Amino acid sequence: MKYALVLVNIKGLGVKTFSYLIGDDIKDVIQIGQAVLVPFGRQGLINAFVVGFSDYISGDFKVKKINKILDETPLFSIKYLKLLEWVANYYCTDFVTVLNAALPMKLIEKNAKVELSVEPIVNNTEDSRITKRQKEILTILKERGKSSLIEFEEIAKTSRATMKKLAELGFVKIQEEYIYRNPLSIFKDTVTEPLFELQGEQITAYEGIKSKLKSQNPILLHGVTASGKTEVYFKLIKDVIDSGKNVLFLAPEIALASQLTKRLAKKFGIKDVAIWHSSISDGEKYDVWQRLYKNEIRILAGARSAVFAPLQNIGLIIIDEEHEGAYKQTNPAPRYDARVVAKRLAQFHQAPLLLGSATPDVSTYYYASNNNNLFEMHKRYNDAPFAKPQVINMQEHGKAAYRNIISKPLQTEISETLERGQQVILLMNRRGYSTYTQCKACGTVIECPDCSIPMIWHSSIKQLKCHYCNKEMSFPEFCPQCGSDALSTSGVGTQKIEVLIKELFPDAQVARIDSDILMKKNAHIELLAKFQKGEIDILVGTQMIAKGLDNPNVTLVGVLSADSGFNVPDYRASERGFQLLTQVAGRAGRGDFKGKVLFQTYNPDYYAFQNAKTQNYKKFFETEIKSREEFDYPPFSQIIRLILSSENNYRAEKSAMEIALRLNTMTEKFGFSEYLETLGPTPCVIEKLNGFYRFQILIKNKLSQKGHDFITKFLNKITIPKDIRMAVDVDPLDIL
Ligand code: ADP
Ligand code: ZN
Ligand code: ZN
Repeated sequence: MKYALVLVNIKGLGVKTFSYLIGDDIKDVIQIGQAVLVPFGRQGLINAFVVGFSDYISGDFKVKKINKILDETPLFSIKYLKLLEWVANYYCTDFVTVLNAALPMKLIEKNAKVELSVEPIVNNTEDSRITKRQKEILTILKERGKSSLIEFEEIAKTSRATMKKLAELGFVKIQEEYIYRNPLSIFKDTVTEPLFELQGEQITAYEGIKSKLKSQNPILLHGVTASGKTEVYFKLIKDVIDSGKNVLFLAPEIALASQLTKRLAKKFGIKDVAIWHSSISDGEKYDVWQRLYKNEIRILAGARSAVFAPLQNIGLIIIDEEHEGAYKQTNPAPRYDARVVAKRLAQFHQAPLLLGSATPDVSTYYYASNNNNLFEMHKRYNDAPFAKPQVINMQEHGKAAYRNIISKPLQTEISETLERGQQVILLMNRRGYSTYTQCKACGTVIECPDCSIPMIWHSSIKQLKCHYCNKEMSFPEFCPQCGSDALSTSGVGTQKIEVLIKELFPDAQVARIDSDILMKKNAHIELLAKFQKGEIDILVGTQMIAKGLDNPNVTLVGVLSADSGFNVPDYRASERGFQLLTQVAGRAGRGDFKGKVLFQTYNPDYYAFQNAKTQNYKKFFETEIKSREEFDYPPFSQIIRLILSSENNYRAEKSAMEIALRLNTMTEKFGFSEYLETLGPTPCVIEKLNGFYRFQILIKNKLSQKGHDFITKFLNKITIPKDIRMAVDVDPLDIL
């Protein structure tokens, strides 16, 4: 080993790797994962991390020498780098991009926080050498025990000079110390509680899962909302940590991860639990990282990015609400899915991966049941009742509805709820597209005959267009199903709903939460807090309000256009729609008051809708999986999406066409064309973004790993012109 490959983070350059010579002084101790000091141009000595070794370097230039090793304890292992390499390969991106997402920047830039600490060393304060005031200070210090010097000076209202004097006299000890910033310190006073005794279905599920802990495939716990899944996880966690191993526990969102951490700290003690997500400070991350590497943390809870935290000795990985899209990073690259990475991580540690949900991902359910790794709980804990959704058929109620949007029955329910002093949530599904075409008489949506997804209306060319295969058709005069001429493009935004609701209920406090609001930092949290306090009567929002809200005073949930979620041009639309409606139904009546859920729809007979109404996952799954099979969608294929974009519309389209053509030529040449289907290029649903015109190619890979390898190779070989950007998204969340 002559050279070390090191990782640096340079302002303006970003994270990059460079080769350095290993001097004789360090050649016996240098290890992967160590922090080192290297000379770097005009910047002088900078921090770097060792990520690899080699005996040769390509090119003929003078290589500089590593100055010194900063800390002999490495911060990550070869195994860890192997995982990142695997991720880079799977998601068709480069290693440094993955490293960049995985490693907290503070690790590269700065080291631990060193602070002065102070502690009392003499018990007898009845010493004639000190003043009354100094005596007081010592009493405070004895009460608090060892403290940060700065903090203590503030608390005791004293000065550095006084403290130094006390140290000289031998009453206190002041020393430099690594201070771990613990993001959990807010839960400091949490009293620990014993675990609950599991009951009924919980016991069966727990024992079933225990018998599968050696399984190489993910285990699924499918349990309806409030069936007590979390308590089952806790019991399993206890077993694992008792056996000396550690647990990684992921939740889909920061807010949910924080709630979960609080619950974990209550059950397992704050000392053993840590939290990890993108919003804890770099300093806190650095400290948690160190503690993880030193195996001081037994349970790490977090959001998506926690899958990259270097938890050692993993005995179990749990991913709760596994169906949530938030586990997938869409932008920027690496466009990874924490579930996929976790599966790999679990294999590395020979640990089981447990996924849980009330509305599992169709592919997860398919694999788990095929592998006999499926465990189900059908009842709520203590048999608590569900709020039964009621369907408002807009084919009947639409005409009399306020502005064709808010039906009479919903208006009545809203006013009655307000009269009782209770609160209302009104939901517009997902994103409100005004572009799908639906028959108002029978509810039929115009779909592409080849792809089974809604056709999208393009007003510029006055055509309906399929965003998978590019098929075009003119706007039909009559409904192909019932012959009515009541076809129209539909969809309304949350803003409009807010206006209408204010018109109808001028005395109520109305607020709106959607992605516009989310742009303003904290505005969304403030609104939710106000809602929780009862200062808002009616909350209007997109799907983001359906998650995690646990407000006992909410007794009415209205879904205004329950169809729109199903009519997004995406093969997963039915699944997402079903999940959303099932989850949102769980938001009403969580307290002592009985809740009501109203779904407005033009399509009351649609299967996904019917099953969401009765909360029948199994039936939904059975219909859905058949259609996936028929159209070769996941789990029967893998989708890889390429997006080509450019400021020049023509150039973007041209390069997309060239790539599709080359890909087709290649697949034909190798006899794969039947198994590697190229769809498009088509303009993206969001045709222009930040001034860039976007075209997409969808690849349906029916050859699993072999097909994936083929495409990776193909993508690595092609060169993209400078004015064109290409984004590769493996297993994309949506194709908008
Ligand atoms: P899920 O995770 O399936 O939504 P939870 O685990 O949060 O459900 O359980 C719902 C509620 O029921 C929680 O308040 C939980 O504390 C309570 N609960 C669940 N199982 C038990 C049990 N075995 N004993 C006592 N309370 C339980
Ligand atoms: Zn019709
Ligand atoms: Zn099509």
